[in-house]
Amino acid sequence: MSLDSSTIASKWREFGLLALCFALALLPPFLVELWKGYSGVHYLYDSRNPYILNTLLISALFSLGLAWVTMHAGRLQRLLFALLLLPLTLLGTLALVHVALYDAPISVGAVDALLGTDLHEATEYLSFNWNTGMTLSVAGYGALYGAAVFWAWQGLSPGRPRAAAQVLALSVLAVLALSAYRFPAIAAYNLKAFEQRPLWSRAAELNRQLPSIRILHDVGNWLAYRQWLEETQQVRSGHDFGAVLGDASRPRTLVLVIGESLRRDRMSLYGYSRPTTPHLDARRKRILAFDGAISPSNQTVPSVTKMLTPATIQEPDRFLTEPSILAAAKKAGYRTYWLSNQGRVGQFDSLISLIAHDAETTVFTNTEFYGTVYDEALLHPLEVALSEPHPHKLIVLHTLGSHQSYRNRYPPEKAVFHTKDYVGEVPDEEQASILAEYDNSVRYTDEVLDGILRKLESRPGSMLLYVSDHGERLYEKGVDTCGHGFPEPMRSEFDIPYFLWCHGECPRVLKRIHSRNRGVAFNTENLFHTLANLLALKMAEYDPKSDVLSPKYRPVWHPQIIDVNRGIHAYASLPE
Ligand SMILES: [Zn+2]
Repeated sequence: MSLDSSTIASKWREFGLLALCFALALLPPFLVELWKGYSGVHYLYDSRNPYILNTLLISALFSLGLAWVTMHAGRLQRLLFALLLLPLTLLGTLALVHVALYDAPISVGAVDALLGTDLHEATEYLSFNWNTGMTLSVAGYGALYGAAVFWAWQGLSPGRPRAAAQVLALSVLAVLALSAYRFPAIAAYNLKAFEQRPLWSRAAELNRQLPSIRILHDVGNWLAYRQWLEETQQVRSGHDFGAVLGDASRPRTLVLVIGESLRRDRMSLYGYSRPTTPHLDARRKRILAFDGAISPSNQTVPSVTKMLTPATIQEPDRFLTEPSILAAAKKAGYRTYWLSNQGRVGQFDSLISLIAHDAETTVFTNTEFYGTVYDEALLHPLEVALSEPHPHKLIVLHTLGSHQSYRNRYPPEKAVFHTKDYVGEVPDEEQASILAEYDNSVRYTDEVLDGILRKLESRPGSMLLYVSDHGERLYEKGVDTCGHGFPEPMRSEFDIPYFLWCHGECPRVLKRIHSRNRGVAFNTENLFHTLANLLALKMAEYDPKSDVLSPKYRPVWHPQIIDVNRGIHAYASLPE
C-alpha cells in the first residue's frame, strides 16, 4: 500500500494521539509517586536518578512500536490497540487507588493484599475505606479508556489531533517540571553505583520505576513468598503443643496489643513529665504496670518472633519450626485473630506474617511500613472480632505505634507537643522537632488504646496486655541518633512498657504478683509463657518460672539481649 504525503501527515497525528493514550495510561501513578516524594522505599535506593531517563526510554519504545502500528492502522488495528491498552489501564488504576488508600507506593505487600485476601473481605475493606482519591483514580482511568475505545472505533477528525498534540506537549512539560522540582532529592542518590551494574539489571530497575510495570515484578516476588510461607507453615504445623483450656467455663477475651518503638519513660503512665498518656493515666488504678520489662532485641522481627513463640535469645530460630501461642490457643478452643497495621510482605514483614497466619482471621489494614495509615484503622476490625459470638478469643493487634517517621503516625491535627517546648533539651531545632513528633505519636497511641479499652469496658471477662516490641533511642546523653536497631545498642532501645488491664478489676492473685514483681527486670522473650497463663492454657511447654505473672516466677538477675548481628550481651553492660 502506498501513502501520499497528506495521509502520512494524518497518520502521524493519529500516532501522536495513540502515544498520548499510552503515556496517559502509564504516567499518572509514576507522576503521583514522584510528586509525593516517597522515600525509604527499597527499590528506589540506588536508582532515583534515572527517573527522567526511564520515562524517556519507555516512551521511546512505545512510540516506535506505535508508529509502526499506526502507519498501517485501520479500525481493526486501532481496536487491537485499545485492547492492548486495557491491562495498562487496569494496572494504572490499581497503582493510583493504592496511593489514595495507603499513601504509599504500590509494592509486593499490595499484591499480597489483592491476591491473598478473598473477594468478600477485600470488597468489605474497600467499601469501608473508600475515599475521594480512589473515586478520582477510577473515574479518570475510566474516562481515558472510554475515550481511547471511542477514538479507536471512530478514527480521527482533522481538528482533534492538533489538540491531542498540545496535550502531549503539556504532559511532557509537566513531567520535566516535576522531575526538576524533585531533583534535589533525586541527586542525593548514587548514580555511579547504578551505572556500574550490568545492562540487564539497569534495564530491569528502570522498568520497575513505573508503578504499572512494577506490579508485574511484584507478582513474581509474591509467588516466591507464598511458596516459602506454605513450606514453612507445613513444617511448623507438624509441632503440636497439645494445649487444652484449663477452665473452659469462664468466658475470656485477651487482647494483646504489640506496640512499636514505644519507650517506657516517654509515657506519663510511667512518670514522664509531659502528659503523653492521659487516657491511661485516668485508668491508672485499674492497670497493673510493670517497670522492669526489657525487649530481647532492638528490632521488630527478632523481638516479636521471640515474644509469641518458644524462640529465645539462645534459640532464636525456633519460630521457624514451631508455631506460636496463637496456634496453641486455637488448638485449645480459642478463636484467634491477628489484626495488623504493619506491612505484610517484605524484608521486615514476612517473618511476622508467618506468625500472623497462625491466626484463623488475619486482617491487614496497611500494606507496608512506610504508609501513613493510622493505628485507629484497627478499631473497626477489632469491633468485628469482638462482636463474633465465641466465648474464648485471642486478638492480637500489631500497631505501627511510634515507628519512624514519627510525624506519619498521627493525624497532624492531633499534635499536642511543639518544637519550641523541646529546644533546650537537644542541641538543635531539628532534633527538638523530632522529639515533639515522637511524643505526639505516643499521645496518639494513648488515644487508640482508649478506643480499644472503651470497647472492652462493656465486655466482661476481657483483658488487655500491652507490650512494645522494643524501645527507641532519642538523642539522649549527647548521642546524635534516634531510632532503633543500631549495631551497637543502647539501653533505651530495650526499655519498654508492659501493662495489664482487666475488665472490672484484675484477679487478686495477679495483683499480688504484680506488687511483688513490678520492679524486677524481666525479658519479654518469655511472653509466650505469660500469654499461656492469661489464656489458662495447660501444656507441657508452659514454664511458670519464666512467667512474670506466675507465683513461681524466678527473676532473672542479669537479663540478656541479642543484637542485630546475633551477638548476645548482658543488658546491664550496655551504655545508658
Ligand atoms: Zn519495631
